[in-house]
Amino acid sequence: MADFIWPDGARCAVMLTCDFDSESLWFSEDATAHRKPSILSQGTYGPKRGVYKMLDVFRDFEVPASFYVPGWTAEQHTAAIEAILKNGHEVGHHGHMHKWIDPANYEEEVEEMDKGLEALKRTVGVVPKGYRAPAGTSSDRTLELVRDRGFLYNSGFLDDYVPYRHTLADGSEGPIELPFHWQLDDSALSLYIIQEQSTILTNDHIFQVWKEEFDALYEWGGLANYTLHPQISGRPARNMLLRRIVEYMRSKEDVWFATGTEVAEAFAAGTARPAA
Ligand SMILES: [Zn+2]
Repeated sequence: MADFIWPDGARCAVMLTCDFDSESLWFSEDATAHRKPSILSQGTYGPKRGVYKMLDVFRDFEVPASFYVPGWTAEQHTAAIEAILKNGHEVGHHGHMHKWIDPANYEEEVEEMDKGLEALKRTVGVVPKGYRAPAGTSSDRTLELVRDRGFLYNSGFLDDYVPYRHTLADGSEGPIELPFHWQLDDSALSLYIIQEQSTILTNDHIFQVWKEEFDALYEWGGLANYTLHPQISGRPARNMLLRRIVEYMRSKEDVWFATGTEVAEAFAAGTARPAA
């Protein structure tokens, strides 16, 4: 028996999420990257080409997606964010300069949060309901900040495969969590960084990893929370891989494709809930 009840009798839920780092991925942890245009250009591929290739896939299969966008990306690549919104997808928060959260520097964490909120509002008029921290980072105060800034949900923990609600240290109610795992993350399987010299895997290998995880979540009634990046899954072969996995999941009965906000709202309303 499945562990979780999903709306309309669905067996499992799929979130196709995209962390739209663009160049910010490369300069967030390297203070001199601003002066390294060829290094930054790996990120430039996202707003220049990749995001549009991903939007094509989502349109062809009529599936919604959630894009988590750093404020800096929204400022520098506003037209790309407008295209995302025009296609009916969700835009959520992903920091401002994509700085990794440092528990020893709460001031910077708050600044990244508020600058990101301000930039999304100013550039594309979005007040995001979902927060995903850069690179899966957090501090012991992140969840409180996410709740206090009015977010409905957080997506950055790895301690479950179904949604749940956080309880904060003082016992009060925190945001809803939509957990993820690196196994369904294209950067874990396919982000090549010259300093790390990682192996470039075939599409067949990655498809197998993703399919096996999806098949298990389909059996267990879980949330398949794919974490994609336009600078990766918008590349030629990887875009074909995205098309292939979405086509596979689309071919299965009773799969609920939803945005993060839709999943969190269903959880809040009780239509998505643990099986009794
Ligand atoms: Zn990111």
